[in-house]
Amino acid sequence: MVKSREPLVDGHGREIGDLRVSVTDRCNFRCQYCMPADGLKWLEREEILTFEEIERIVALLVSMGVSDVRLTGGEPLVRRDFPKLVARLAAIPGLIDLSLTTNGYLLERDADALVEAGIGRVNVSIDSLQRDRFFQLTRRDSLDQVLRGLAAIGRHESIRPIKVNAVALRDFSEQEAVPFAEFARDTGYQVRFIEFMPLDGDHAWTPDDVLPGDALREIIHAVHPLEPLPREPSSTARVFRFADGQGEIGFINPVSEPFCDDCNRIRLTADGQLRTCLFSLGETDLRGALRSGIDDDGLESLVREAVWRKELKHRVGDPGFQQPARTMSAIGG
Ligand code: SAM
Ligand code: SF4
Repeated sequence: MVKSREPLVDGHGREIGDLRVSVTDRCNFRCQYCMPADGLKWLEREEILTFEEIERIVALLVSMGVSDVRLTGGEPLVRRDFPKLVARLAAIPGLIDLSLTTNGYLLERDADALVEAGIGRVNVSIDSLQRDRFFQLTRRDSLDQVLRGLAAIGRHESIRPIKVNAVALRDFSEQEAVPFAEFARDTGYQVRFIEFMPLDGDHAWTPDDVLPGDALREIIHAVHPLEPLPREPSSTARVFRFADGQGEIGFINPVSEPFCDDCNRIRLTADGQLRTCLFSLGETDLRGALRSGIDDDGLESLVREAVWRKELKHRVGDPGFQQPARTMSAIGG
C-alpha cells in the first residue's frame, strides 16, 4: 500500500500535478533549435538514473499528487529497454496519465511494445512535412521513417489523442502552417506549434527567431477558419477547432503568451536533478540523495523545499535573461 502524502505546492500556491522525466540526454537527431550539429558530451552511464531510481522518485511524487507523467529526453526510445521502464511506471497506483514525447524515429520498431507496456498517449515531434526542410531542421534525412513511426502508433486506437509537435521558427514555419493544418484535418491528429525558446545548443536564439503562435493562427485561419475551444486548466496549448468541425490545431506560446501563472509542472533530468522551471538556473540533486541512502520522508522534504522555491515566471525576453547551461535535450522538453 503506497502512503498518501500532502499535496505538493509551491510558494505561489500552485499545486504540482505534472512531471516530465527525461530518461536520457542522448539523441539520434540534431535539431537546430535543440542540439549542436556535433552533439554534446553525453552523460556517463553511472550518472544516469536507473529504472529503479526513476520508479522510486515517480512513485513518491505520485503519492504527493502528481497524476501526469511524460517521458522524454533526449530521445527516450534510444534508452535501452525503455518499454520496461514504461511498464514499471504504468503500474504505479495513482498515476493517471503516462505519456511519451518522441521524435518518432524508432517508433515503428517500438510502438507495439510501448502500448503493451501501458503507455497512455504519445506526442511525435515533426517540424516539416517536406523531406528537405525536415532534414534542414533535424539534420537527419528521416521524415519517411518518422511518418512510419507515427502510423505505427496511430494504428493503436487506444492511444488517443495523438499529438504532433512542430517548433515554430520565423522565416521557416510560415510555409508549414497550412500543410500542417491540412495534415491535422486529414489524420485527426492534433498538431501543435510550439514557439522557439532559448534552450538551443548553439545559444543562437534571438527574439526575432520566434514566430508567435498568433501569426501562424492567422495564416491558417485565412485558409481554414478556426474557432477557439475552451482552455483546459493547466493546459499549455490554446486549442482551436476547424469551423467545419474537421479536426483541431493548437498553439503553445510560452514566449508571446507565457502560461506561468498556472504552471503545475516540474522536471527530472536524466541525471536525477529536479528542475522547477525549464529556465531554472539551479537544480536539486535527487540522485545524490538517493545514492546516499535517503529514506522516502527525507526525499519528500527535499522535493518540497525545492518546489516551494519554484520560479514565479520565466524571464525570457527581459533584459538580463540568462539562458540555462542545459539545452532542451539535456533538460527534457
Ligand atoms: N527527442 C524527443 C522529441 O524531439 O520529441 C523528446 C525530447 S525534445 C527536447 C521535446 C520537445 O521539445 C520536442 O517537441 C522539441 O521539438 C521541443 N524543443 C526542443 N528544443 C526546443 C526549443 N529550443 N524551443 C521549443 N521547443 C523545443
Ligand atoms: Fe533530439 Fe528531440 Fe532535441 Fe531534436 S528536439 S535534437 S529529436 S532531443
